[in-house]
Amino acid sequence: MLLRPYAAVIRGRLQWGLEFRLDDSGMIVEVGPHTGMPEPYVLTPAFVNAHSHLEYRTLMGQIPGGDYWTWIRQLTELKKSQTEAEVVASCDLAAAENRATGVHFIAEHSDRPFAGASLSRHGFEGPVFQELITFLEQASPEEKRQIVLDRAATQGAAVSPHAYHTVDESSLRWVLAQGGPLSIHVAETQAENDFTERGEGPLAAFYESFGFSRPPTGKSVAQSLLDLGFAGERVQFVHGCALSDTDISLIAGADVSLAHCPRSNIALGCPTARVRRWLDAGIRVGLGLDSAASSGPIDMFDEMRASLDLSRAIGEPITAEEVWWMATGGGYASIPSLPKVPYDLVPGAKMPLLRLSVEGAHETEDLLGLDPTAVSWIDGGDGA
Ligand SMILES: [Zn+2]
Repeated sequence: MLLRPYAAVIRGRLQWGLEFRLDDSGMIVEVGPHTGMPEPYVLTPAFVNAHSHLEYRTLMGQIPGGDYWTWIRQLTELKKSQTEAEVVASCDLAAAENRATGVHFIAEHSDRPFAGASLSRHGFEGPVFQELITFLEQASPEEKRQIVLDRAATQGAAVSPHAYHTVDESSLRWVLAQGGPLSIHVAETQAENDFTERGEGPLAAFYESFGFSRPPTGKSVAQSLLDLGFAGERVQFVHGCALSDTDISLIAGADVSLAHCPRSNIALGCPTARVRRWLDAGIRVGLGLDSAASSGPIDMFDEMRASLDLSRAIGEPITAEEVWWMATGGGYASIPSLPKVPYDLVPGAKMPLLRLSVEGAHETEDLLGLDPTAVSWIDGGDGA
């Protein structure tokens, strides 16, 4: 197959005048200059959603934003009212919308055991992280671990802790010993650091209201997790809004990746993630659509625009090229457990490809103004 777009996005950068020859398996075997009239589209590797909760899709627009702690309490209540049929429908709807916005790989966080089957039905690839929460079972969490192990087994998922503050320390160590890929929410708010460093703030009060206590570690939440052994390329930290410069350099040194979820962070009033510093430290970073209950409509272009805008708003700009890379090859490299293969429009690479209907694009930033209606899959394909 020969693809002759007028431009293509390579390592996040828009380049003109190249055509791409693919073999029967879909592998790119040759990249060279145009040998004929190009077609009016831009070629790009399919998007990678580095952090997702499909099951909250039908809760979109039902929880007011503004404050993370209010939001998470309301989400926890609304989840109880979701029937199994609604959760399955939510996963299927979110999967279809991910497909429509050009996503092929998803790193999914799953509380209930239905997202994995939905992702398979829709032809997606990527790990499913079965969330372990033991907050209410911290005296004897073994039974809860078994429940979560069983849920994970039903959908080929890896057990992963939801967050430091929702999982007791013995269970954090137990999850580490499972040996699988790990993804955990870290430093979404400053309250997590106040809790681990000094045993203060809203999380300490929350523990107290249940009659629980947990001694502070004297360190940030990221450093507390790194010290427990949450390190290496099998680990992804999600959000990272309240990471210090020290945290960032330790995360880089530990080869832990980060998922950036800008629209969710804005909606929930989280500190602005210092993505410029993450990239400069050499951290593998992916862009995550998170859940529609916080981020809003499933739209990778809107997520990319938010990422660019936020970085500019704090005077630490990243470029549109870096954003596109976070949403494609960089995001792919950030997801634990995916094969280490090139994810870019280069010879020897093989990945699902998108055709973007846009004329006259001059640079990557021109593509950020698109929406899912511009997306179609090469070869009719949804990557399958
Ligand atoms: Zn999340």
